[in-house]
Amino acid sequence: MSKFDVVVIGGGPAGYVAAIRAAQNGGTVACIDAWRTDAGSPSLGGTCLNAGCIPSKALLESSELYHRAKHEFAIHGIHVGDVSMDLAAMQARKAGIVAQLCGGIQGLFKANAVTLLPGRGQLLPGNRVRYLPHDGEPQLLEASHVILAAGSVPTELRSIPFDGERIVDSTGALAFTSVPQRLGVIGAGVIGLELGSVWRRLGAEVTVLEAMDRFLFMADSHIAREAERQFRRQGLDIHLGAKLQSGEVTAAGVKLRYEDGKGSQDLEVDKVIVAVGRRPNTSGLLDPQAGVELDERGFIRVDEHCRTSAAGVWAVGDCVRGAMLAHKGSEEGVMVADLISGRYGHVNYDVIPSVIYTAPEIAWVGRTEDELKQAGTAYKAGTFGFAASGRAKAMEQAAGLVKVLADAATDAILGVHIIGPMAGELIGEAVVAMEFQGTAEDLQRTIHAHPTLAEAVHEAALAADRRALHAINR
Ligand code: NAD
Repeated sequence: MSKFDVVVIGGGPAGYVAAIRAAQNGGTVACIDAWRTDAGSPSLGGTCLNAGCIPSKALLESSELYHRAKHEFAIHGIHVGDVSMDLAAMQARKAGIVAQLCGGIQGLFKANAVTLLPGRGQLLPGNRVRYLPHDGEPQLLEASHVILAAGSVPTELRSIPFDGERIVDSTGALAFTSVPQRLGVIGAGVIGLELGSVWRRLGAEVTVLEAMDRFLFMADSHIAREAERQFRRQGLDIHLGAKLQSGEVTAAGVKLRYEDGKGSQDLEVDKVIVAVGRRPNTSGLLDPQAGVELDERGFIRVDEHCRTSAAGVWAVGDCVRGAMLAHKGSEEGVMVADLISGRYGHVNYDVIPSVIYTAPEIAWVGRTEDELKQAGTAYKAGTFGFAASGRAKAMEQAAGLVKVLADAATDAILGVHIIGPMAGELIGEAVVAMEFQGTAEDLQRTIHAHPTLAEAVHEAALAADRRALHAINR
């Protein structure tokens, strides 16, 4: 039986980061991960690197450039003639980026002396782990601490099960080899909007069916309204309050039946992306005697420090409560590895940024205006539109706005919400300010370079006190 100080099950952003930090802290560490390339070699990084964040960003960038070359270059006075697209080249570029980054993690494992064990892991009672290599006999590992980081898998709808061909999840939607003419998207969440807009920009007619009556219910409603307006203008055909009844694969495509406020509707598409959320990936992970409890939704039950109900067993990332975000999982991994080695560890769950990588991007941190109203918190709000930003104008991307919400009494920043160019980068300033318990005045008194997009954050903070300089304060 092999012995380690820490065994991590799962090599996604939560697990591989936990393994690296545990090794940095001086422990002997093994990380078991099942992901393999088509050629059969280990591919660390989990869904994020292999089939999520990174490949989708590669295609978002390519499709955005294609769209700009076709529709925006002429405005800049650049004439490129007929713009054409080579989807196979886009996909190959995407695969190259993924392979490089996954290889990079293996390099980090080597440098930090983390033992990579390709295959599956199962937690047994008494901090032992059954390791099932892809090829070969099962082995027994013993660990002082086990970190469960098994991630999540797409939720399937019973009415329209995945077939990997016409009805796909996000992984399938990242691998289309041709642009579907008519694409249906079930769920106007993060994945539905990001992937729907990739294929829209590459030429698909995209219809999005969303069960909720409100668009982007998790975002600030002001930002959500602006996003809906912009996405509709880009040609996304968005149907809210649309409850899917059935999906039937036909010779020509997929026949969808859904119900909305007007009754039963039929829609025929060539392919369907089902993006209605993800569920924890705990299947086969836990021996029933291992003593790890699940909650009513199937997530591994943990406390605020990611301790499970079994001594010495921790769980982090998508398989535990909280936002399913790579950076949240990574921070939990760091916290747990540090706590294991007797150091300080903490995750500030109130200050986790969210980003939707559409064009324009949407990003936020902290409370929405609706949440503050509901909680009865007295607040002030300042907004600033990118239409008045010199940099955004010069970039031909002057749509959208920044909104800063601050406590009416203490001036503490309570939330920052952005829709516009590079929103995902701009939100970093707000995250730092909130992490340091900053106030709107702190942002106001911070010098922002001119001309930059970040000036919009500065102006929105000024607007919270009706002191914006480049907008009329109302
Ligand atoms: P999501 O929770 O973001 O959105 C799912 C949407 O589907 C919701 O709007 C929901 O109302 C809708 N829905 C549910 N059932 C439906 C039905 N039967 N018919 C129509 N609509 C239905 O989930 P997702 O987009 O699948 O993403 C999964 C997870 O991965 C999320 O937690 C997300 O945060 C994460 N993720 C994050 C990023 C990012 O950070 N940029 C990118 C991709 C995924």
